[in-house]
Amino acid sequence: MAVAEKEKRTFRIDIYENLCKGCSICVDYCPTNVLAMDGNLVIVKDLDACNGCQLCDNRCPDFAIQVFEE
Ligand code: SF4
Ligand code: SF4
Repeated sequence: MAVAEKEKRTFRIDIYENLCKGCSICVDYCPTNVLAMDGNLVIVKDLDACNGCQLCDNRCPDFAIQVFEE
């Protein structure tokens, strides 16, 4: 009998563009390379790779990024 595949957790990442100062701390802390810089703004380049660790959320000094489980 096939073993049921564990349901994959999915996340939503909100970026508050008015608060982000483009320091790239979140990019540096993300262990799975979800985030990238686009000029002075962080962008989500690979949402599927997000494991929900919230390091980006916790390390941002400007409260400009938040991660939610969907
Ligand atoms: S750590 Fe915060 S302020 Fe810095 S790039 Fe990331 S979201 Fe923007
Ligand atoms: S929650 Fe973790 S894996 Fe997802 S973007 Fe933030 S640092 Fe990267």
